[in-house]
Amino acid sequence: MAIFPCERHGARYVGPQSTLYFGVGTETDIDRVKLRVCSPCLDDIEASVVGLFDQVVREGEPLADFQHSMECVRCNAIGDTVPLFVTIYRPKHDQNQFYARMCSGCAAEWRSVNIDPEPPTPPKKR
Ligand SMILES: [Zn+2]
Ligand SMILES: [Zn+2]
Repeated sequence: MAIFPCERHGARYVGPQSTLYFGVGTETDIDRVKLRVCSPCLDDIEASVVGLFDQVVREGEPLADFQHSMECVRCNAIGDTVPLFVTIYRPKHDQNQFYARMCSGCAAEWRSVNIDPEPPTPPKKR
């Protein structure tokens, strides 16, 4: 089996490799990142997504519309919210997509906990 570096926890692992897209922002101004991650990292992220985000695509099939809610799903504050998208591709599966709206504080915090944990040293080259 091939050995890959997990782009989330930074260490190498033996496959399978999963791909995750995380997007935050509006349709016209979206900040989108792609991560190739190991299964435990993907499970971590998925566990944080399920129950908080709405699943909008299951195995490639659209399930639901995007709700333009003004309520943050994380702290329930009412006000300006930003859309967050998480798309997960597991090996041998079609995409599963999740969507939520959060206030900017929660969006940044959720991202830092789940998507951008402290990078290992040395930083990866781009
Ligand atoms: Zn990992
Ligand atoms: Zn919030």
